[in-house]
Amino acid sequence: MSNTLNSINPVTNQSIGSVDITPCEHIANTVTRARNAQQSWANLSISARITQLKKLSNHLSEKQEQLAQLITQEMGKPIKESRQEILLCHTNLTGYLDEIEQALTPQVKNNNNTESVMYYDPLGVCAVITPWNFPFSLPHGLIIAALAAGNAVIFKPSEETPLSGQAYADLLHQILPPDLVHIIHGSDDQGKALVAQPIDLIAFIGSQQTGKKIMAAASEHLTRIILELGGKDPMIVLEDANIEKAACYATENSFRNAGQVCISTERIYVHEKVIPQFIETLVRETNKIQLGNGMDEATDIGPMVNQTQKNHVLSQIEDAKNKGATIVLDGSNQENNFMAPTILSNIDHDMRIAKEETFGPVACITSISDDDEAVALANDTTLGLGAVVFGQDDHAKTVARHLTAGMIGVNQGCRGVKGTPWIGAKQSGYGYYHSTEGHRQFTQIRVITTRSVA
Ligand code: NAD
Repeated sequence: MSNTLNSINPVTNQSIGSVDITPCEHIANTVTRARNAQQSWANLSISARITQLKKLSNHLSEKQEQLAQLITQEMGKPIKESRQEILLCHTNLTGYLDEIEQALTPQVKNNNNTESVMYYDPLGVCAVITPWNFPFSLPHGLIIAALAAGNAVIFKPSEETPLSGQAYADLLHQILPPDLVHIIHGSDDQGKALVAQPIDLIAFIGSQQTGKKIMAAASEHLTRIILELGGKDPMIVLEDANIEKAACYATENSFRNAGQVCISTERIYVHEKVIPQFIETLVRETNKIQLGNGMDEATDIGPMVNQTQKNHVLSQIEDAKNKGATIVLDGSNQENNFMAPTILSNIDHDMRIAKEETFGPVACITSISDDDEAVALANDTTLGLGAVVFGQDDHAKTVARHLTAGMIGVNQGCRGVKGTPWIGAKQSGYGYYHSTEGHRQFTQIRVITTRSVA
């Protein structure tokens, strides 16, 4: 078996570089080295660790264009979105680290002449395992939170984006002590070998299916886990919605990154009275989208990451067609890994596309006759990452409170403001990150209780 992992450009299907696959039998030793390095990192004050981590910002900013091009060539997203991904990593870093420092400041509670102090101590060695759709920002969010809390990190990037993963680890190696951050390359086998180790935390972003396997594997050592998993996000368009705004949002959020976003709009429930106008506007906006090589500045959506992902999407469309869906716009007939935006209507919940994550550029529309029906259908899934409701503000907020998702947007996207968690409900997640409580999940809380002076 080859010990090299090639990174394939989804536009050309050619290799753009390779990394050495990490032998699984080396991983135990990697954990030992990380554990040794973690001791002195944990002994630094949190502000000393944070000062060191803030240096990453300049390195990211200096290499922004080079890193953006690498992302686009490796997984296909438009270059303007890759630049934005790197930009957000470095411009938000200082604020993110300051927020972590504040979250991990010891908390004091008093009761009846007794004082307890809660300390947020490092856990030890943290595995960070990530997917390919945001190959910089997703590992960055988890790794920075783990390191700032005083942990060592063993990072396993997706096998689809090993060069982006390696580039990120190289930047960390420039600013951090030796052995504190390790990278291991490979696919499921390396991931399985890593989570089987006696480590202290597994921070994982990826599919629901892999999340379940990781949870099972973690039970061996009762390893702490944070799982950020897939979504099947609904959008509800109420009778009193601004249809122009709703359709523009649906266009943007169904097709961005070729639909390969965990909070993509995957299902759209539109009130029967406004459905013709909604579809007409959606089609008009979708026809403006430019499909092409992500390296072209004019491209709005690039290829899908690989043929397997494209086939998965095509098979869901085929199943929906066979079960009576109407093809409003057919973008499936494209060469290689490309797939243009596709719009389906008359979707019902007997179709796979209404229940399983699609992760492709498909907008799926279902007609609803009232709020109760919309809520029942939106909640009819095992997943619950994001959701959005468009309608008159108070009406839409009332509907939003009935949705079983972790993040719900009213007349806008589902992402919360700075300081709120990135969080899934039901099988979209277990644990979470960002926010005060999220930062503390990378720590061991220790409570020290003493008698106060009378
Ligand atoms: P995936 O689950 O196939 O792989 C993710 C990572 O897990 C990869 O690095 C992979 O090598 C590794 N892995 C695979 N099997 C493993 C195992 N048994 N043990 C340990 N590691 C293993 O996911 P993907 O296809 O790379 O990414 C797409 C998925 O990620 C979608 O479901 C998407 O919704 C989800 N995602 C979720 C979020 C979120 O914040 N909730 C963000 C982005 C993507």
